[in-house]
Formats: sequence, structure tokens, C-alpha cells
Amino acid sequence: MNIEIAIKKGCQELKNNQIRSALLDSELLLSKVIKKDRKFIVLNPGKELDQNEQDKFRDLILKRSRGKPLAYLTGTKSFWKYNFRVNEKVLIPRPDTEIIIEQVLKIYKNKNRLNFLEVGVGSGCIALSILKEKKSFLGTGIDLSQDCIEICRYNAKKLGLSNRIKLLKSDVDNLIFCKYDLIVSNPPYIKKFDLNKLNKEVINFEPKLALDGGLEGLSVFRKIIKKSSELIKTHGKLILEIGYDQKELVKKMLNENNFYVNETLKDLANNDRCIISTKK
Ligand code: GLN
Repeated sequence: MNIEIAIKKGCQELKNNQIRSALLDSELLLSKVIKKDRKFIVLNPGKELDQNEQDKFRDLILKRSRGKPLAYLTGTKSFWKYNFRVNEKVLIPRPDTEIIIEQVLKIYKNKNRLNFLEVGVGSGCIALSILKEKKSFLGTGIDLSQDCIEICRYNAKKLGLSNRIKLLKSDVDNLIFCKYDLIVSNPPYIKKFDLNKLNKEVINFEPKLALDGGLEGLSVFRKIIKKSSELIKTHGKLILEIGYDQKELVKKMLNENNFYVNETLKDLANNDRCIISTKK
């Protein structure tokens, strides 16, 4: 079987299973198998695949047909300007989360040195993208999951950032005496009873630890905001990703914990997605 026929078959199989970007996914999965980029696939339709390559490709198409996200099958997801290694232990980076990077760059345009913390660092896409842009910033990333810390450490190394990020498996409540200029977080914020309403590709495959925000979706915010008011320097900032319907409740929580709210921002779909606040 050659590349063209394999792609056609894979694409049809994905379409039959209601996978929307069937052609692209099929091409990217074959790229993964033959370790070539997509361009090679498009330019070499007649190249024959050996049996091993065909078997591997068929297996990936089957997994994708069952809804496994493409990023978990290829093991990588691009975010901001970089590719991040991911696996099923970390949330897949979302384009909407890039708002946090944009805002950090805007707020600290003229600031070089800064010490920040990311709570729930996951793959590291937020902290590492910030460090790539701001060469004198120092970061700390914590996560409850050791698997996340390991993936993040791998990504940090690949991006040449190992010496500017400290990574710890820790709950935010265990941090003491640190005074940060900035804390960022995209915590789990989905209401427990809404988890089943999420897209099947999300809920069947992505880690609940990164999604489940308790009964009202606010339990992790409560914890982070409370502790951040101790960990952030006066006039330091807390930047959070929030759910589309959480703006007012999170604002209230911030006000009750010695923060004032600077701004809330909407995502590409025009939903409230990010809230910027300052420690009084
Ligand atoms: N934005 C994610 C989703 O819609 C949720 C991420 C989170 O809970 N922090 O699946």
C-alpha cells in the first residue's frame, strides 16, 4: 500500500466515525508513523509503506476513531510558538489559554526581572512559553501530579529552560515564605456534574484532576486565591483562566482576599476566559 491509498483509507475510516478533521488527522498520524513531516506525505503519494508501517498506522487510526485526541496519539501539541510533549496525564494545551501569555507580555513589556509561580503547571505550556519570551524571568511550577512534573521537566529541557524553572510536586498550600511578583494558573474549573457534558474526547481521555473543579467548579480557585494572597508581593499580580460563567464569582472571591480586579478578557469564542487581579 502506498501513502496516497493509506491516507484515503484512514481518512474514510475517521469520517465514518464522525471525526471532523479526518484528512488532516490521517496525514498527521501517518507522519508520526513514518517519522516525516506532512509536506513529505503530500509530496510523495506513491511511496510504498512496509507492513510494519501499515500496521502501526491502522492501529493509530483505530484509536483516533474511538475518540482518542490526536495530541495524545502524536504525543505533541503546539501552543504559542512551541511544541509541547503531552500524554494522557496532562491536559492538552488549548489555544484559549494563550490569552494568559499575551497578557503577561503586555503587562510586563518593560520589566525584565520577575519571579513567578504557576499553580498546576501540567505540560508547562504557560510557564515555559513565558520563560521563552522573557529571558530574565524565573519560574516555579507546581503540580499535584508527579507525571505532570516529569513531562514539564522534559519540555523545559527541550526548550533549554531547565535552569530557569523550578518544578515541584506540591499542593499550593505547602508553599511557604515565597514572595512572587506574579502567580498564574489554569486550574480545574468544570463543575463536577457538568463533567459528563464535556466533549467525549475531553472527558473520556483527559485527566479529571485537570478538569474537576468540585461541586460549583470553584473549589480550586478558592484555595489558590486564598493562598496566593499570602504568596504574592504587595502589588503583585494573579492571572487566572476561568470558566465562561465564573467571572462574577471569582471576582467576588478575589475582592474578599485582598485583590482588586484589573480586567477580565474574553477568548476567541467571546466567552469570559481570563481574569487579571492585583494584590492590595
Ligand atoms: N478549558 C478546558 C475545557 O473546556 C477546561 C480546563 C480547565 O478546567 N482548566 O475542557
